[in-house]
Amino acid sequence: MRKPFIAGNWKLNKTADEAEEFIKSFLPLVQGVKDVEIGIAPQYLAIPALVAASRGSNVGIGSQDNYWEASGAFTGEVSAEMIKSAGCIYAIIGHSERRQFFGETNATVNQKLKAALAAGLHPIVCIGESLAERESGITEKVCEDHLRGGLAGLESAQMQTITIAYEPVWAIGTGKTATPEQAQEVHAFCRNLLEDMFSAEVAAATRIQYGGSVKPDNVKDLMAQTDIDGALVGGASLKPDSFAALVNFNK
Ligand code: PEP
Repeated sequence: MRKPFIAGNWKLNKTADEAEEFIKSFLPLVQGVKDVEIGIAPQYLAIPALVAASRGSNVGIGSQDNYWEASGAFTGEVSAEMIKSAGCIYAIIGHSERRQFFGETNATVNQKLKAALAAGLHPIVCIGESLAERESGITEKVCEDHLRGGLAGLESAQMQTITIAYEPVWAIGTGKTATPEQAQEVHAFCRNLLEDMFSAEVAAATRIQYGGSVKPDNVKDLMAQTDIDGALVGGASLKPDSFAALVNFNK
């Protein structure tokens, strides 16, 4: 059984103080939720405040990225070990905004993923096609390239802590959600591909989140799909009420 996993990606939003304010309102709204895993990935500087404020709760904190080197002359970077030692559980890797604005490629995703795993973080690896790619009919090819490139060289055992997030770029922050059927089709494709790349066991056990304008009013239909195991959420994770409504999708 794959436990549903709802994670918030706060992107470049919220100071440490604002993050602390959020978590104080949010925790009581999700207190006692045991059947859904909950994660929040704030900007780096808000991580210590969120880790401290969520200690002992059912909410795990993560980063939005990590560098592949452990230390050295890499100005501006933060390593997976540093993120882990700050108390993070998760690391989002290869988000489409990083691919689009910061030159992330399948090769860098792969390096970052290996570093995150070595540090003991639970990676959330993002994949997904642009609008032009969908309209050209190459959605599956793009997702296959992202998965084969991003997960290259991994052993089946290393897949245990990895979550895949299918995020069609055209649905991120646009208010356009993939229909549950469109999302399910790609999720099923990705799961079959994981079987081909690893094994039937890995394919059956790996959680695949959907991301792209997930909101309280569409989450239930998305989560009802066989191969959708959770959501990676941007905008709707910024307010305690809406993020709690997503976490409580099955209530
Ligand atoms: C995201 O940033 O991963 C995302 C899915 O954003 P939004 O929910 O705002 O579309």
